[in-house]
Formats: sequence, C-alpha cells, structure tokens
Amino acid sequence: MSNIVAIVGRPNVGKSTLFNRLLERREAIVDSTAGVTRDRHYGKSDWNGVDFTVIDTGGYEVNNDDVFQGEISKQVQLAIDEATSIIFMLNVEEGLTDTDYEIHEMLRRSNKPTYIVINKVDSSKEELDATEFYQLGIDKYYTISSATGSGTGEILDDIVRDF
Ligand code: GDP
Ligand code: MG
Repeated sequence: MSNIVAIVGRPNVGKSTLFNRLLERREAIVDSTAGVTRDRHYGKSDWNGVDFTVIDTGGYEVNNDDVFQGEISKQVQLAIDEATSIIFMLNVEEGLTDTDYEIHEMLRRSNKPTYIVINKVDSSKEELDATEFYQLGIDKYYTISSATGSGTGEILDDIVRDF
C-alpha cells in the first residue's frame, strides 16, 4: 500500500517548484511506468524515513481561469482518484480567485485528506497577506516558500503522520 501525495492548484502557484524540491536527491520516474502522462509527473520522495510518491499536476500553459472547466478540473479529479493525500497550493502574490474556490469545493466534496498550502510566503509581509485565505472557510492553512523550502517541513510532518 503506497502513499501518494498529489499537488494541485492553478497555474503558476509554484507546484513544480515544490515537486522538484521534494524530489531532491531522488530520481523522478520518467517513463516505463503505468500512468505517466505528459500532463502529470511522478516522483519518489521520503520524509522522516517514510517513502511516498509525489504527483505534480499541470502542464497546461494558459494562465487564465477560463481553463478551469477543462484542464484544471480534470487534474483535480485525477488527483482525487489517484492520491491518498492532496496538497492544494495557493499563491499569496495573486490572492484568492474564483478558480481557487472551485478547486476547494471539489476537494471538500471528495473527503480526501487535503493540506491547504499558501506558497510564495517569502517574508513576514506575505504571512500577514495570507490571512485572506481564511475566506475559503478553512480552519488551518500552511504557509511555505517553495523557493527557499521554508515551511515545508511542518507540512510534511503532518502529511506523513496522517498516512
Ligand atoms: P506551477 O505552474 O504551479 O508548477 O508553478 P512553478 O513551480 O512553475 O512556479 C511558477 C513561478 O513561481 C516560477 O517563476 C517560480 O520560480 C516562482 N515561485 C515558485 N515558488 C516560489 C516561492 O516560494 N516564492 C517566490 N517568490 N516565487 C516562487
Ligand atoms: Mg508546473
């Protein structure tokens, strides 16, 4: 029984940056594996000695909320079907969008363990801005900087503990 963590969210929020950070020193699965597609990347990672697979979703290039009904909702649904845990990544630079609400609603209905992660929190200024995301009606979010890795340990502690 393997643990699979999928990273979902709008384009440009920083999903691939986190994915690459989680895969540091580990090898991405590039081919010869069932389920590898052009729009999703799979890799192996571990935290506190616990192995898991990470899925980076995306590949859609259009940075426009109109793509939601197509690519983004498809990727969120695939993540719900495939993963044991989901990281829902949001971008503090851009703030909340309608698409974020739609993704959140899909995840909420799925009952999958979901970790809401506000990315690009590079300083205390963004930490304050991140409180906007409580408007999603959530009790808890994590703030991270995928670019520096700050905050990623706390979320990994919780994800791995909940497996
Ligand atoms: P994706 O489309 O969600 O996969 O996003 P990417 O990982 O490709 O990142 C989109 C852009 O955001 C890139 O220019 C990244 O360098 C930048 N980025 C990612 N994480 C951070 C972060 O924590 N802080 C800042 N300031 N920029 C970031
Ligand atoms: Mg990407």
